[in-house]
Amino acid sequence: MSESSKAAVRLTHHILIGLVLGALVGALLNQLSPALPWLQTYVTAGILKLIADLFRNGLMLLVVPLVFFSLTSGVASLGSPSQLGRLGLKTIGLYILTTVMAVTMALALAVWIQPGSGLAELAATFEPPVAPPLTDVISNMVPRNPVQAMAEMQMLQIIVFAVLLGLAITMAKDAGQRAAGMIEDWNTVVLQLVTIVMKFAPIGVFALLARAVAEFGFDTLKKLAVYFVLVLVALAIHLFVILPTLLKLVARLNPLIWLRKMSEVWLFAFSTSSSNATLPVNLRVCEERLGVSKRVSAFSIPLGATINMDGTVIMQGIATVFIAQLYAVDLTLAQLLTVVAMATLAAVGTAGVPSAGMIMLASVLAQVGLPVEAIGIILSVDRLLDMARTLVNTSGDAAVACIVAQSEGELDLAVYNGE
Ligand code: ASP
Repeated sequence: MSESSKAAVRLTHHILIGLVLGALVGALLNQLSPALPWLQTYVTAGILKLIADLFRNGLMLLVVPLVFFSLTSGVASLGSPSQLGRLGLKTIGLYILTTVMAVTMALALAVWIQPGSGLAELAATFEPPVAPPLTDVISNMVPRNPVQAMAEMQMLQIIVFAVLLGLAITMAKDAGQRAAGMIEDWNTVVLQLVTIVMKFAPIGVFALLARAVAEFGFDTLKKLAVYFVLVLVALAIHLFVILPTLLKLVARLNPLIWLRKMSEVWLFAFSTSSSNATLPVNLRVCEERLGVSKRVSAFSIPLGATINMDGTVIMQGIATVFIAQLYAVDLTLAQLLTVVAMATLAAVGTAGVPSAGMIMLASVLAQVGLPVEAIGIILSVDRLLDMARTLVNTSGDAAVACIVAQSEGELDLAVYNGE
């Protein structure tokens, strides 16, 4: 295991400890506060709130730069649209299809199970803004002023601007290449910034959970547990039902073999929570064990690690409905469709690094008028879900690579079926 993977595992341990301590301290505060009101004033609404706010602000400050740089460089790395060719279109088409399937399934599940309904305290604290009609959402997609869009965190506008800029870069020849290099560098720098902020995650998670449990009691914990399990169930459905079915129906491949061979990738994805860090292993498994040609895997897998995040959109879909239910907001069909579109776009802009999907959730929430601060509630359990969804993200990339390779006659069946 590399140094950075070891650091990721260590961080996960620390976050777990923060999570358990946070639940315990929160429970204790919840029980003691009625008799000792100073606990509420100085601890729950004092020091815990301060730490939680600091951590949440730290995450928020990442949203705009992360979306902008990673999306622009993601689009720029696709190469000129005319050179994309059939392979590119097929791969991107399948990535979008699997993403839309994943988020739709997640939304359906969340609307059905209602993981967040019935928490009256929260519902009372929030007045939802009137959702703009879908036509307004569409006409407002193109920013009149990109700087203003960034200042106001208008995520859809930022995304449209980043995609256009990325496209322009691919068409601007030499100048485009220089600009792409610069954006790529900035992307690396911003990802480093994410690492810095995440170093504070153990204490941040502790404060967030302790405060939520102290203020809203065990009901919050129970709700969080339901949310947690529901995301895991949806991830499992995608991994064990949807992707294998696609492999079987579209590519006529035995999905059991695929599942068995992917387990090596899963270990890495799970322990690093990063599609990027898992990239080398995923490439090797696709080429050497699943028989995908170099041409297809070298294109699909890195692209997938950047733009295809089935697991992330599953979390975002369920989290959005969960938060809406916590605040007693009924999402309309138009809002649910907005979530599908936003999550799909946000997936393109989600970097394959730990916690990026949680940061991008802010843009989905903002788009349907839900309070972005609500992320604080689910943030506490997100690290564990991140591990699981990264596993699904990387599996989605490999499944699409196999399907595309098979359709292009570039899958070595002897290798795929062999030991
Ligand atoms: N950690 C995920 C990945 O690297 C992204 C996310 O946070 O959802 O694929």
